[in-house]
Amino acid sequence: MTLHFRNTLGGALEPFRPLDPGHVRMYSCGPTVYAPAHIGNFRAFVFADLVHRVLLFSGYEVTWVMNITDVDDKIIRDAGAAGVGIEEFTATYVEAFLEDLAHLGIARPDTMPRATAHIDDMVALIETLLEKGHAYQTEEGSVFFRIASWPAYGRLARIDPDQQRSGERVEADEYDKESVRDFALWKATKPGEPSWQTAIGEGRPGWHIECSAMSMRYLGPSFDIHTGGIDLVFPHHEDEMAQSEAATGQPFVHTWLHNAHLQMSGAKMAKSTGNIARPADLYASGVSPRALRYALLATHYRSPLEFSERALAAAAAAVERIQTAVAALDGYAEERPDAEDLPALLADARRAFAAGLEDDLNISAALAATFDLVRELNSRVAARSISSADARRAAAAMRELDTVLGLLEDEADDGLPAELAEMLESRAAARAVRDWRRSDALRDTLAEAGIIVEDTPDGQRWRRSGT
Ligand SMILES: [Zn+2]
Repeated sequence: MTLHFRNTLGGALEPFRPLDPGHVRMYSCGPTVYAPAHIGNFRAFVFADLVHRVLLFSGYEVTWVMNITDVDDKIIRDAGAAGVGIEEFTATYVEAFLEDLAHLGIARPDTMPRATAHIDDMVALIETLLEKGHAYQTEEGSVFFRIASWPAYGRLARIDPDQQRSGERVEADEYDKESVRDFALWKATKPGEPSWQTAIGEGRPGWHIECSAMSMRYLGPSFDIHTGGIDLVFPHHEDEMAQSEAATGQPFVHTWLHNAHLQMSGAKMAKSTGNIARPADLYASGVSPRALRYALLATHYRSPLEFSERALAAAAAAVERIQTAVAALDGYAEERPDAEDLPALLADARRAFAAGLEDDLNISAALAATFDLVRELNSRVAARSISSADARRAAAAMRELDTVLGLLEDEADDGLPAELAEMLESRAAARAVRDWRRSDALRDTLAEAGIIVEDTPDGQRWRRSGT
């Protein structure tokens, strides 16, 4: 089987073949760090993480780059209002973003370049575009991309270039553009705004040029996959593609992947409309990070995701089923011959799981294969019809599926505070000598600390409440 993706460029379902066999180079548009990211943003990052994990699961080596936009109009506006420089202003939100990634089980991309550290790369790209006649500089010093010089413009978003941007607000410094459609590569300096002294004058970069310069800096002029939310197709990705290909004369990205919106109460989640929820708010109300991850993951990426309390509750239950099943396998012991049909059962489950993902990341099919396996393993554990060695094999198979799902990680042996670990040991010791009063008291104390202890034929088992 081969991975197939629905490529936004052309719209077809295509077999995926990396330019460099065995090695996938991938870029994801990252956050603009002027506020904590909301869960609508995190749908895009959980999606990019899923693509990354599926590529690894499929045996590829992956180089993954995600930018951090640390200079733009909103950052300048809000840093100014706060009376601090943009570096100080954005540092808090960069830190918060990295923490959110970790909580949600999103792998840290290999490189997370910041716009302000790559001004030279952007200027070099703009100079090439100026030399080739694809860009022009206005009298006051801004540089614009000349869309009339690039007939392929509109190919990604499949739009008629003459219909675009007619309704867009024109900034005061954009009146001397040749055409209303042209977009800014470089913005001439304005009083009180951060700017850089460069070969093309003093100013700051436009947003689109940032992603072109940083993706090509780390991945080369042509690379395999570019991800982002559907709202970035136009104009951001259309502009990225035009300016990159106009500069290098080579195809920029082979496969463009875009996730649909996340909606709450029927409307798109966006900071501008105030219709937002943030991970930290949800955690504070008792939602576990793994349940949130599941809720963001479990809807196919090209379908709108309707986010609700009901969806979160269902996600929490699903995560608990998987975690409980694996914990039961981990604790299982039974002296008996290995079950003859178990290897085939595990192999079939893996095949169905992989086939779902290979079909344009059909997560519903992959999750259905996971829960079919969970159901079968649960019933065999309950009937004690498998051996200890079978249980180890089954747990390993579940963990392999979880390298894609990311719902078990950090749960097995992660930092349980020493005092709680000691309480668990004391409780096991109390049960061994049938001191039920002490064991019950310790169970209650542990529950207050968020650790749920259950007794099974294989001894006590614990998990964090709410996961
Ligand atoms: Zn971007």
